[in-house]
Amino acid sequence: MNTIEHWINGSYVPAGERTAPVTNPATGKVTGQVALASVEDGNAAVAAAKAAFPAWRDTSLARRTQVLFAFRELLNSRKDELAAIITSEHGKVLDDALGEVSRGQEVVEFACGIPHLLKGSYTENASTKVDIHSIRQALGPVAIISPFNFPAMVPMWFFPIAIAAGNTVIIKPSEKDPTAVNWVAELWKEAGLPDGVFNVLHGDKVAVDTLLTHPDIKAVSFVGSTPIAKYVYETATAHGKRVQALGGAKNHMIVLPDADLDLAADAAINAGFGSAGERCMAVSALLAVGDIADSLVEKIADRARTLRTGDGMRGCDMGPLVTSQHRDKVSGYVDAGEAAGATLVVDGRGVVPDAEGDGFFVGPTLFDHVTTDMSIYQEEIFGPVLSVVRVDSYDDALATINANPYGNGTAIFTNDGGAARRFENEVEVGMVGINVPVPVPMAYYSFGGWKNSLFGDTHAHGSEGVGFFTRGKAVTTRWLDPSHGGINLGFPQNS
Ligand code: NAD
Repeated sequence: MNTIEHWINGSYVPAGERTAPVTNPATGKVTGQVALASVEDGNAAVAAAKAAFPAWRDTSLARRTQVLFAFRELLNSRKDELAAIITSEHGKVLDDALGEVSRGQEVVEFACGIPHLLKGSYTENASTKVDIHSIRQALGPVAIISPFNFPAMVPMWFFPIAIAAGNTVIIKPSEKDPTAVNWVAELWKEAGLPDGVFNVLHGDKVAVDTLLTHPDIKAVSFVGSTPIAKYVYETATAHGKRVQALGGAKNHMIVLPDADLDLAADAAINAGFGSAGERCMAVSALLAVGDIADSLVEKIADRARTLRTGDGMRGCDMGPLVTSQHRDKVSGYVDAGEAAGATLVVDGRGVVPDAEGDGFFVGPTLFDHVTTDMSIYQEEIFGPVLSVVRVDSYDDALATINANPYGNGTAIFTNDGGAARRFENEVEVGMVGINVPVPVPMAYYSFGGWKNSLFGDTHAHGSEGVGFFTRGKAVTTRWLDPSHGGINLGFPQNS
């Protein structure tokens, strides 16, 4: 049996007594056992990161950047391997897995520019013959705790910048698809990263709690569901760490009556059913404004029925859900939506997938006449279930979005520039698409939601990411000359 071990200080560390099965969701077959860290394993990972920190922090920017470029080249030339690992443990189709790797690679490319990003500022003669400059310095060992749905990209939102800035990292990947990060660890070694700078600690709550409370961990970047994000934020800040904790989502797409309904239907399909709805930026609620709803629902339904669900290695449109428990949970939501009186237009339960074995499939599912009191609207289903909510006006659509406790992503489909501009200004959501259904910002902007979709005040990557993984220092300098003499016990005043 394949055992997925921790990676500490540049090599694998055998699993202890506790392990958990890893499954290929397209076949239902167990493919490995992942180590579940003990507190001692966690302490060993932190000790390795702590020991590696001083030398890595003091490594020149020129050398650090060379390692980053080498990593980028290796990743770019071998990304097919990583995509295949993602598909075999997560289930998303191979094209989508490649897309995930490419979006992560963008952050590596952004981090290659770290010498420019870390430049401080300088003020000459702030006071007479007194100069001031600012610098940004690394924090120390930092922890990254990631969810199952982007086993490569989400860790890559953080570690390239953390490492480029001179920190050392410990990643705690999801125990459902842990192999991708081990592959990345080996790639870093090949790229010349010193041992101990990049460590992987596999596990569950024990591993997470060890990192959240360990005095040597300086910062925590977390991505996952809202209740755990809130817990991570509260626990790690109580232990004196800076924290960015990205949580769950319920993303709305508004379609105004003037929109091109065919293009809007295409977008709804892509954003609703891509990665089987297991994206934090998936559209799960479509707000159809005015009298377009009948026609729009028909167009979406026609397209949904043509999608091929099956094994992600077989060129299908949509893969399985990550576990049998999650498949059952998603099917349960479909039952609940029907029972609550929503119109089930396309039913994905009982789909016949293009796959061998006993995978965890639910096909594309479309509900119409959903109301905001139904559980299928209120909760994050995280599956291929799209709910159409009919509203009378733009104002009703906006009020619905702003009343929702989540605020990750949203999109408006319209050809009316004035309406789009108003929406951009009025909506209480962190990432907004104008005719773009999944508005994931590029690496040089920052990714993050509002309200219950993010705890903390810093978004991922871009300049906010650089700020998160460094702390500022302001240095005031004078080179003494006779004009600086004399005794004066007062607080210095500018002159
Ligand atoms: P999850 O919250 O179950 O797990 C996330 C991480 O937390 C994993 O590493 C897991 O091992 C750990 N964890 C789980 N339970 C824990 C506990 N009780 N104590 C400590 N640690 C614990 O999330 P998931 O199911 O892996 O991922 C899906 C969720 O992530 C969805 O809600 C999705 O919206 C969200 N997500 C959000 C974003 C974003 O950018 N906002 C991006 C991706 C995923």
